[in-house]
Amino acid sequence: MSITSPILTEVAEVNAKPSHSEELLRRSFSLFEKTKDLNAFISLERETTKCEVSGGGKLAGIPIAIKDNILVKGERATAGSKILENYVAPYDATVITRLREAGATLFGKTNLDEFGMGSSTENSFFGVVKNPLDPARVAGGSSGGSAAAVATDTVRASLGTDTGGSVRQPASFCGIYGLKPTYSRVSRYGVIAFASSLDQVGIFAKDPLDCGAVLGTIAGQCAFDQTSSAEPVPDYVAAISAQFTSGSLQGKRFGFIKFKELSPDLEALMAANRRIIESLGGETSDIEIPLLDSSLATYYILSPAEASSNLARYDGIRFGTRAAGKSLEDVYLTTRTEGFGSEVKRRIMIGNFVLSSGYYDAYYGKAQKIRTLLVNQYREAFKSVDILITPTAPSEAFKIGEKTSDPLQMYLSDVFTVPVSLAGLPALSLPLHTVNGLPIGSQYIAPHFHEAEILGIAKLIHDKIGINKPLH
Ligand code: GLN
Repeated sequence: MSITSPILTEVAEVNAKPSHSEELLRRSFSLFEKTKDLNAFISLERETTKCEVSGGGKLAGIPIAIKDNILVKGERATAGSKILENYVAPYDATVITRLREAGATLFGKTNLDEFGMGSSTENSFFGVVKNPLDPARVAGGSSGGSAAAVATDTVRASLGTDTGGSVRQPASFCGIYGLKPTYSRVSRYGVIAFASSLDQVGIFAKDPLDCGAVLGTIAGQCAFDQTSSAEPVPDYVAAISAQFTSGSLQGKRFGFIKFKELSPDLEALMAANRRIIESLGGETSDIEIPLLDSSLATYYILSPAEASSNLARYDGIRFGTRAAGKSLEDVYLTTRTEGFGSEVKRRIMIGNFVLSSGYYDAYYGKAQKIRTLLVNQYREAFKSVDILITPTAPSEAFKIGEKTSDPLQMYLSDVFTVPVSLAGLPALSLPLHTVNGLPIGSQYIAPHFHEAEILGIAKLIHDKIGINKPLH
């Protein structure tokens, strides 16, 4: 059985008729204009005003939007922050170099929570991103702009970054696919750091095969990122096709992670996933990962600790818009108090606290230990199953303003995605269902470097069962 996707079809067309790329770009511009009010973009690159297409590339002529914490040479990279409002990137991130080599057209820099800290894009200095399906609601975060750009069809794919859920959760809220690859699968060179042991570039698309096509171009070892993996990059499109050709999930084992309490909607979501998998011949079982309970607390110790260190460079001297001051200390203080938003300042303070002498062992040291134990628990679970399943987020997209006054409520949005990040595992949010007319994602998690397996399963479900089915 043949297998295709929107990007593969368009690439074939561009390769047959190069002027088709101009058509694609025009379509992107027109959809960008129509959906401007959603505030998905911070800037459009100068490059997109001219059409630059190299023939034969794997992504020839495909417009791709880029989260604004990824460097594109000569363009602004704000990370959603006032402190970097006028920062122009002096070089291309490795993922950008690779997209260019594949012939993709870079289309715009997308809006995000400041430095990737948030779950709703409400922490962006450039204002909230509205959900394309209901503009009174958030598009999720922190990569809300990249998710909205794909949901509106402005672009067929976009890059985001995912530290604790920032690709998967907005994908869930916008009814599209969001892939967080294995930690180290994709180079972080040229990606503005939030929490370096967790940050990973991820991909949004409306078809799992398109996630694979983009992953195949951006993945792989990079001389500028010592943490990037030497693990060979498979031909994802071929691997996904092979899985598809088998036509069933026979022999695949799916473990549903048990939670103490799930809302009735989430119970229904998990039951619906079970039915889909069993109807395609897959085996299902329940799995316990006891340390999931401690994951959110662990993440909100480790990620601010790393952030407080990574963000020290924005002092107005080395990086960041410099504020006026009477003394050096005054310059530092004013630069940082005026340049950063409140969530970023909160994280810097938490980070410094958990790293301070006297508290280090109790918080940071303990959290590191829990992280190791959690990795072991996942490893144990993957002895008996191939894929683990949870919801992506606790609910459908919430209303703009609903959680802004309560940071803890906001942090709870990440309860299902954060543990996967702590363990560095790859995971995909699948837009299989809707509740009250709004999408709600299912998260499929695989062992390290098994992206092709999740994407293959997703493609099978996508083409055979369909997506966005009402739960009730
Ligand atoms: N919402 C999470 C946070 O605020 C995750 C963010 C992310 O993945 N960049 O830390």
